[in-house]
Amino acid sequence: GKVLLTGGTGFVASHVLDCLLEHGFEVVVTVRSQEKGQRIVKSIDEALGKQVSFVVVEDIAQDGAFDEAVKSDPPFDYVVHTASPFQLHFEDPVRDCLDPAIKGTTGILKSIHSHAPTVKRVVITSSSAAVLALSDHPKVYDESRWCDVTWEQATDPVYTYRASKKFAEQSAWSFHAAHAPSFSLATINNTYTFGPVPRSLASLGALNTSNQRIRDLVQGRMRDSGIHPTAPVFTFVDVRDVALAHVRALTVPEAGGKRFYVVGGFFSNPRIAGIVRRRFPQLEGRLPPDGEDDFPEGHWAFDNSRSREVLGVEYTGLEKSVVDTVESILRFEGAG
Ligand code: NDP
Repeated sequence: GKVLLTGGTGFVASHVLDCLLEHGFEVVVTVRSQEKGQRIVKSIDEALGKQVSFVVVEDIAQDGAFDEAVKSDPPFDYVVHTASPFQLHFEDPVRDCLDPAIKGTTGILKSIHSHAPTVKRVVITSSSAAVLALSDHPKVYDESRWCDVTWEQATDPVYTYRASKKFAEQSAWSFHAAHAPSFSLATINNTYTFGPVPRSLASLGALNTSNQRIRDLVQGRMRDSGIHPTAPVFTFVDVRDVALAHVRALTVPEAGGKRFYVVGGFFSNPRIAGIVRRRFPQLEGRLPPDGEDDFPEGHWAFDNSRSREVLGVEYTGLEKSVVDTVESILRFEGAG
């Protein structure tokens, strides 16, 4: 099969790309510039000896941004849409986050519907942010839940990212319900994601948001300040499990029409620091002193059984995820 993968430069996308190639798919990625596309082609050739091609989509929020990208010869069978802003700060919440997230999602679905009738399944990277309530948590979370953030709260920086993911995912399901397109839809609602940094990353300064706490620990940024607080997020998943979930969701028939809450376990920053201290004695001088575990009492539980049963995901533990992330950061430091 042939897959269009958006946001090819991203952390999650880099692993989805590896996983697709390992499963024998032909892949075209979208990127924002020629230079970014060329970095990916080169890194995939060097690391895996495989080929990938790219198409430039400069601004995913523009009407018809994907109209040309979805056309291909031979035509696409599948689309994975990962491109969406994930940062802690946005200068302009609408321009820099809500528009690309929401218009990017509806835009690609419109383009597929109008120009790529061969596409059978579209998988969208949503987030646990579209699942978890702002407060007032149930005892157990699963796919039946939706974040309660409102449109009025969306431009408040504290809520912007979560709103972008909720409203992007909801607009995808609404589009699908309204237009009955040729493709079925699935969403991956992965939680906070750790794992090896993309090989094609320009620098560790440009590292994706969710790996930054591990980078900061390893680079000595918590040595003097002490271990940073873990809040607000205490669940993690390994990026390779997230990637496999995307790939399986493309082809498993029963995945169509479903969301998948993809979460591997609990973590806290003191637990991560403990793993790094034990497994990387050479980093001792960069680490803060041991801290009290700040994992909250009575924390809610999660139910990831749908992802295990329908997609066959077997979740990686925290120790392996952290160790492999740290090793990738050290390799990157060594090479840089
Ligand atoms: P990255 O920042 O590594 O990747 C984001 C990707 O989206 C990059 O390819 C980036 O392109 C692209 N992108 C961002 N803004 C725009 C824009 N305005 N126009 C076009 N492309 C854009 O983060 P992740 O890999 O972590 O995130 C990928 C997806 O996974 C997102 O949808 C995110 O919401 C979701 N997710 C991530 C989680 C995590 O913990 N990491 C958890 C749950 C969901 P460029 O490189 O050119 O900036």
